[in-house]
Amino acid sequence: MFEIVRPVSHRVRRARVLAALRDGQLRRQAACDADARLIAAARFHGRVAGRACPVCGSDQLREVRFVYGDGLGERAGTARGRRELEALVAELGEVGVHLVEVCPGCGWNHLLGSGVAVPRS
Ligand SMILES: [Zn+2]
Repeated sequence: MFEIVRPVSHRVRRARVLAALRDGQLRRQAACDADARLIAAARFHGRVAGRACPVCGSDQLREVRFVYGDGLGERAGTARGRRELEALVAELGEVGVHLVEVCPGCGWNHLLGSGVAVPRS
């Protein structure tokens, strides 16, 4: 088991991007640019977000965690499911995590937040 400490939310920035999309100041192609690898990572390692995509309304919006940190070596920057992240936390003590939402339907993707996963005390 792990918990996320030192959380940083990126929801304000996300709201600004969505507002710019609605206002036409930002083109949809610029914001909905998830490539095939990101969508595959979200499908394989992520989970259904349980809310609609803010751009296209799809119910297939997913949340996926990417890990970062010095101890990870070649694993840095890769997507990880919950069990894999638990194993990394058990091995390394702490693992940086970025939580990203990805829509396989329209390609919308945005960083929701970041933090550090540590063993639950
Ligand atoms: Zn979408």
